[in-house]
Amino acid sequence: MSEQVVIVGNGMAGARLAGELHARGGDRKVTVLGTEPHRAYNRIMLSTLLAGKIGEPDVELAEVAGQGVDLRSGVTATAIDRAARTVATDDGDRIAYDHLVLATGSRAVVPPLPGLDGPELPPRVVPFRTLDDCRRILAVAEGARRVLVLGGGLLGLEAARGLAARGLEVAVVHPVPYLMERQLDPAGAAVLAGTLAGLGVTTHLAVAATAVAADADGVRLDLADGRSLHADLLVLSCGVRPDTALAAAAGLAVERGVLVDDRMRTSDRRVSAIGDCAQHDGTVTGLVAPAWAQARVVAQVLTGEDPLARYRPRPPVTRLKATGIDLAAMGDPGGTDGAGEELTFADPARGTYARLRITGDRLTGAILLGDNPAVGTVIQLFDRGQPVPSDRRALLLGRALGVTPAEPAATPALMPDAATVCQCNNVSKGALVTCWRSGARTVDAVVAGTRAGTGCGSCRDAVAGIVGWLSEVDSVEVTR
Ligand SMILES: Cc1cc2nc3c(=O)[nH]c(=O)nc-3n(C[C@H](O)[C@H](O)[C@H](O)COP(=O)(O)OP(=O)(O)OC[C@H]3O[C@@H](n4cnc5c(N)ncnc54)[C@H](O)[C@@H]3O)c2cc1C
Repeated sequence: MSEQVVIVGNGMAGARLAGELHARGGDRKVTVLGTEPHRAYNRIMLSTLLAGKIGEPDVELAEVAGQGVDLRSGVTATAIDRAARTVATDDGDRIAYDHLVLATGSRAVVPPLPGLDGPELPPRVVPFRTLDDCRRILAVAEGARRVLVLGGGLLGLEAARGLAARGLEVAVVHPVPYLMERQLDPAGAAVLAGTLAGLGVTTHLAVAATAVAADADGVRLDLADGRSLHADLLVLSCGVRPDTALAAAAGLAVERGVLVDDRMRTSDRRVSAIGDCAQHDGTVTGLVAPAWAQARVVAQVLTGEDPLARYRPRPPVTRLKATGIDLAAMGDPGGTDGAGEELTFADPARGTYARLRITGDRLTGAILLGDNPAVGTVIQLFDRGQPVPSDRRALLLGRALGVTPAEPAATPALMPDAATVCQCNNVSKGALVTCWRSGARTVDAVVAGTRAGTGCGSCRDAVAGIVGWLSEVDSVEVTR
């Protein structure tokens, strides 16, 4: 009998794993259970959908769409019997597995405030995690004038910017004294707040929300300093929590996430966990690049392609997806003990801020906000762990001082083959060139062949630049 693989969760990790298994062929039955009623979609692009820059069809994930897998949308796994190796579902089925993969993702945190403590959220109060959340936000925003966003982290700001772009008056309430405190420092966050103000988003910092009152006519958010803010819509963006309930109830080892080893195996060798729900080496990532890398490892191990495949985390680079705000943050720009060299540049009037940390001759952290010509170079140096140029000013001021920018669209010929173009899918310039040489002749064909650009989409211009360059030079010679 063929091997039975059951994947719980049809989100970005589960759908990718189904696609990876399907691509490797073999005699294996794959069943995917997904609570959400939709086909798998690109959750990352919900911010862009909210901003009205793309439509719903654009967020659908192409890769599985039911091909070669038994996809059960709208079905929730309710219990795992590890002794019998079965999964029970809410439609009364019991599915046998030889290997089970948990890809249950995370859930939006609803803060424990009076007014939000009922079994259902009140009208006009919506978290921002799923496609249905996005639809609800857009439906309420339709007749709205004022919006409050609770939470000034990355997602809260993407939601705020997107709704402001629709012409709404948006205010962000954040309990910490500065925005995006996990990625930024106070000076950078102050510049960001200024940029947001120019785009129609006001910020209320260092103030906690104490209660919510909402009905069909509007929302009131009470603050700890005695003020009350009124709006037509309240978007909750207060962080996420890995969805580990199913794993914990089955007796698997769980801390913040489901504990996994380098091959993504849980405390039961027949059960793996990937994506937001997994905790590897003390870390739950909440990002798509690691989720997709983990899906690949599980596919390699399960199909026998590489039974010794191991997940090796790469340092994440965070980019804000919001029109009019260019922000990249990576590593630890402050330095844990202030060790190393620090480079800073600030031009708040123009919304520009840069802070870079160099330890030895390596870049160990950076914040780049606004117009920073060397952003591509900085990301590549951080990502590849390469030595920084001896003329440090080049890192702040870019090509004006002659450093080779790694922005692929600008000068692809000068990029090293190893330079990562797509961070989400870990696709290098070399892989794009190889794909081109194997016959892909359009941007869409190269994207389909390598998956570059199918995550957050921020490298699409770079991929197009490389394809354009190849079409000009490849008949003669490709410079390495
Ligand atoms: C608006 C937004 C923007 C983002 N932007 C970025 C970004 O720019 N870059 C980045 O790296 N990351 C970003 N993220 C985070 C990224 O989307 C997640 O890291 C990624 O979706 C994780 O994939 P996952 O499959 O682990 O979880 P999910 O995508 O959350 O999928 C989990 C799925 O499992 C289902 N499920 C749960 N329990 C069960 C069960 N018992 N039975 C059946 N199904 C179940 C859930 O319903 C869900 O559909 C963003 C997230 C949001 C919400």
